[in-house]
Amino acid sequence: MTGRVSRRALLFALGGVGLVTGCGDGHATWHGAGDIPGDSRPGDAASAGVTDSASPLVVPPANPPQPGVCPAPPGVEQKPGGPQYSLPCRGTDIALTVDDGPDPTYTPKMLALLAQQGIRATFCMIGRSAAAHPDLVKRVLDGGHHIANHTFSHPMNIAKMPAGAVHTEMARATDAIAKAAGGGYRPRLFRSPGGAWSSTVLGQCSALGLHPLDWSVDPRDWSRPGVQHIVTTIMKQTHPGSIILEHDGGGNREQTLTALGFVLPKLREAGYTFAQP
Ligand SMILES: [Zn+2]
Repeated sequence: MTGRVSRRALLFALGGVGLVTGCGDGHATWHGAGDIPGDSRPGDAASAGVTDSASPLVVPPANPPQPGVCPAPPGVEQKPGGPQYSLPCRGTDIALTVDDGPDPTYTPKMLALLAQQGIRATFCMIGRSAAAHPDLVKRVLDGGHHIANHTFSHPMNIAKMPAGAVHTEMARATDAIAKAAGGGYRPRLFRSPGGAWSSTVLGQCSALGLHPLDWSVDPRDWSRPGVQHIVTTIMKQTHPGSIILEHDGGGNREQTLTALGFVLPKLREAGYTFAQP
């Protein structure tokens, strides 16, 4: 986000609450090592690093939600026992998933935006970040959101790892989230980094009682493609049953927050309801 969305438009989209107060460079770090790639599948069409144009932001109209009409996500096939790409086709439900946190800069902003919109989401947390920020884990749960296991260290390709290492990544993340959350909470969903699935990963999900969760709408927000790209992708690709992928960790997430400030009210106005997988 480079400040080309007018502040007036931004405040309008946010109902004047001003949750996102600046569009400059953030200072979030990722374990001291800079940004990490987010969770898009390799080969997704959108390109990284595209900046906003100078033209005013346009929010396309939402696809009218027709209950019971749920187009299959493009390029993926739902198989029994495989990862879940969309919600069961009923009603007007869609889901928002928020990956790679908790992050001390962006998770509180995300929580404020979701509270303002009355939306409950699913936060796919990295175990070591949960261990580092137990207060944020509790705040996410206090907001009525769910937490999914997103591995302990976010490996680049868990689908190529042997069973023992996969098991360790998943089990350590569950333990870290459970310890941070307290009260006996344990994640029941597993979101694989980068949507990388293998029979080994799915087998470990089964062994650990974790339901494999994927997504169907991905604007590659982690690559900071510009607020317009994030807004357009979500508005054009969202249908009943969609599971939208966003991020609140792994780098500067101001574009994500700004874009969601525009699209979440529009989706609600169009009749969509937010559910949790
Ligand atoms: Zn991730």
